[in-house]
Amino acid sequence: MNQERYYKFSEYLKERFGCRVYKIGVDAGFSCPNKDGRISRDSCIYCNTKAFSFYSRGLPRTIEDQIEEGIDFGKSRYAAERFIVYFQANTNTYAPLEILKERYDVVRKFKDVVGIAIGTRPDCVDNRVLDLLSSYTQDYEVWIEYGLQSAHNNTLEFINRGHTYDDFLKAVELSRGRRGIKICAHVIIGLPNETAGDIMDTATQVGHLKLDGVKIHPLHVVRGTRLESLFTNGLCTLLELDTYVNLVVDFLERLWPKTVIQRVTADCLPNLLVGPQWILKKNKVLNEIENKLSKEGRFQGRIYKE
Ligand code: SF4
Repeated sequence: MNQERYYKFSEYLKERFGCRVYKIGVDAGFSCPNKDGRISRDSCIYCNTKAFSFYSRGLPRTIEDQIEEGIDFGKSRYAAERFIVYFQANTNTYAPLEILKERYDVVRKFKDVVGIAIGTRPDCVDNRVLDLLSSYTQDYEVWIEYGLQSAHNNTLEFINRGHTYDDFLKAVELSRGRRGIKICAHVIIGLPNETAGDIMDTATQVGHLKLDGVKIHPLHVVRGTRLESLFTNGLCTLLELDTYVNLVVDFLERLWPKTVIQRVTADCLPNLLVGPQWILKKNKVLNEIENKLSKEGRFQGRIYKE
């Protein structure tokens, strides 16, 4: 793998493309079946797409505009030379195939885009969608990013995900059959009612799946969500930074060493964040995770077992 304590996405991208690659999050104007009534109207309890969506913040922009802005930003801020377009907001496989193709195809207008990443739910893919995504692998690196959050069905029910762990396993299985599509799972540490043992159980199960990528997020409360009312009514607590750092380190040790860790923190607009406030200090969070791993001689996959 590498000299690092965990397999960072930045390192993977450098190995793969030989230059700096910046991931541009876009809101392609899709909806979500867990909000529009097909599964539920209540959404996941922590969801407020305004936290990362131009459209939802009343700032509609075309996909082209968002990519253009992302490229300018990535070039000036990070000296990036290539770009991955991340279809991020809502459920980006939830539309008729021709609409999906039309919106994904926008990336073809930008010569420096080398990849696409599609954020979606495990219950929103089928063979036709995966065949469509697979067709882009000739020209692009293609990632599908499944929101899992937890391997425990009681938690998934409590947070109103509207799918089960089994749905996730089926989606992974179906996606694996498509050559070239890389699979990433999103998990959340600190979900209501989960013990450290529950979280490590999710880590072990995700580790055994030998996924291409994992994103780890700390639970955080965004304004306007049902989680906010649970939190303000004292019905859920948030992790302190040191507890989160301990849990992330324990989590990483259970993952497959070759899984690329795309994230170990979260982003939120400060005016939408209820807490914990430490997630706004991204570098501090990253440094504390790094320091703990290094001081204690620990690393990703240390206790992973085949
Ligand atoms: S699946 Fe994603 S977009 Fe849909 S309600 Fe849940 S968090 Fe929000």
